[in-house]
Amino acid sequence: MKAKKQVLGLTPYKPGKPIQEVKEELGLDEIIKLASNENPFGPSPKAKEAMVAASSSPEIYPDGYAARVREAVAKELGVEKEQLIFGAGSDEVILMLCRTFLTPETNTVMAAPTFSQYKHNAIVEGTEIREVPLTDGVHDLDAMLKEIDEETRIVWVCNPNNPSGTYNNEEDFLRFLKQVPKDVLVVSDEAYIEYVTAEDYPNTIELLDDYPNLMVLRTFSKAYGLAALRIGFGVASRELIRTVDPVRPPFNTTVMAHEAAIAALQDKDYVRECHEKNKQGLKEFTAFCKEEGLYYYPSQANFLLINTGISGDVVFDSMLKKGFILRSGEALGFPNCVRITVGDQEQNRKCMKALKETIEEAKTVAER
Ligand SMILES: *Cc1c(COP(=O)(O)O)cnc(C)c1O
Repeated sequence: MKAKKQVLGLTPYKPGKPIQEVKEELGLDEIIKLASNENPFGPSPKAKEAMVAASSSPEIYPDGYAARVREAVAKELGVEKEQLIFGAGSDEVILMLCRTFLTPETNTVMAAPTFSQYKHNAIVEGTEIREVPLTDGVHDLDAMLKEIDEETRIVWVCNPNNPSGTYNNEEDFLRFLKQVPKDVLVVSDEAYIEYVTAEDYPNTIELLDDYPNLMVLRTFSKAYGLAALRIGFGVASRELIRTVDPVRPPFNTTVMAHEAAIAALQDKDYVRECHEKNKQGLKEFTAFCKEEGLYYYPSQANFLLINTGISGDVVFDSMLKKGFILRSGEALGFPNCVRITVGDQEQNRKCMKALKETIEEAKTVAER
C-alpha cells in the first residue's frame, strides 16, 4: 500500500504513561500521575451524575449538532449558537482546522516548543511548517508575524503555552492580531483558561466580532475534569464556523459528553474551587523551586515546567521508580526540564520530596 509520504515518517502520539502499566512493571502499590494536566479532583459530582444519566440509551446516535451543550456554551460565553463547533476534544477541532485550511502549497506558523498537535496535523496535510522559537518560554509574536506570507493559512497561539505554562498578555496579543492579514486564521488555544490568574490575560471572546479570522479553542478536558469524555470546542465568527463545519465527522461528540459538559459548566463553585487549589499548589511548587535553586517557567496553567539541570529522561526514570509519572522535557523540547501537573496537596508534597531526593541522587552520581 502507498500511504502519503509525510505519514510514513510520523509516529503516533506518545501519551503520559498509564498508571496500571507502571504499577505492573515496577510492582508499586501507589502511583501518582502528574503527567497529563488532568484535574486531580475529577469533575464536578453533578457532571458525573449527568454523564451516568445520559448513558441509558447507547444504541441511539448522539445529536451531531450538539444542540443542548451548544446552547449552554453560547449562553455562558455570550455568543451566538452558530459561532461554535464541537470536537472530540479540542484536539479534533485542531485536526478539522488543518483539514480545512492546509495543503502542500501552503504554510502554517507556530511557536516551538508548543502543543504537539498543531505540527502533527500540519505534517499529515503535507504543509510547510514555520516554527518560531519561544523567547524565555513565551511566544515571540513579533517574530511569528514576520513568518507570515501569502501562503500562510493558520497561525497558532497556545495561550497559556503547553509545555511552558507561560502566557501572552492582552496588549501583545491585540497588537499581533491587528497586524495579521485578515485572510489568515489566528487560533488562540485556551485549554487552560480556567486556571489563569493574570489580570492582563486577553479576553478573546470579545474580539470575535472585530476579527472574523480568529478562532478560540476551549476544552472540557482540563479544569472541568472530563478528559475521558472527549469534548472541546472552537468559538469564532459564523462565517469561519460555516467553513469548517462540513469537515466535522457527523457524530463526533457523545451524548454523555454533552450532558456532563452542561452540568460541569453550571457548577461554577466547583471550578472556582479547583482554580483556587491549583493556585495554591503552584505557589507551593514555585516556593520549592526557589528554595532548591531550580529555574521554572512562570505558569498560568495547572502544570509547571522545571529546569533541574539534569536530563528530563533521567529525572523521569528516577521519579517513576519512586511512584511518580511526570513528563520528561526531552520529548517536549526542553531537554533539562520536567513538566509536572499540579495535583492535590498531598500528591504535590510527596512529589516535591521525591524530586528533591532525585536531584540529590543525581548530583551524588555526578560527583563520583
Ligand atoms: C490538553 C490540550 C488540548 C486538547 O485537549 P482535548 O482533550 O483534546 O480537548 C489542546 N490544547 C492544549 C494546549 C492542551 O494542553
